[in-house]
Amino acid sequence: MAVKERSNDQWLAALRGPNRDEALAELRVELMRGLRAAFKALIGEIADTRDVEIGCDACFEQMDRFVEMELSGLNAAQAMPLVQEHVEICGECREEFEALRATGES
Ligand SMILES: [Zn+2]
Repeated sequence: MAVKERSNDQWLAALRGPNRDEALAELRVELMRGLRAAFKALIGEIADTRDVEIGCDACFEQMDRFVEMELSGLNAAQAMPLVQEHVEICGECREEFEALRATGES
């Protein structure tokens, strides 16, 4: 359905006018469009945070949980992708991770 561009005042006028049902249907379309746009933006933001890298401190804080998950057969890399990424790029943390994992396995 083609929705006419309306200012807020024009929407109010349309909703009070004789073509109220039509305006209401249009408003619904317009709202869904707005919701979709907002939702998309939100998803984009969430996806963007995936690109943020964590540092050694944050990695170290989450390391215990990460190793625990890994040892219990859960997909730690998927659940905690930032730790996984950091361990891949940081030799120090990888050593720490491997040491912890070795301790847990024995
Ligand atoms: Zn590190």
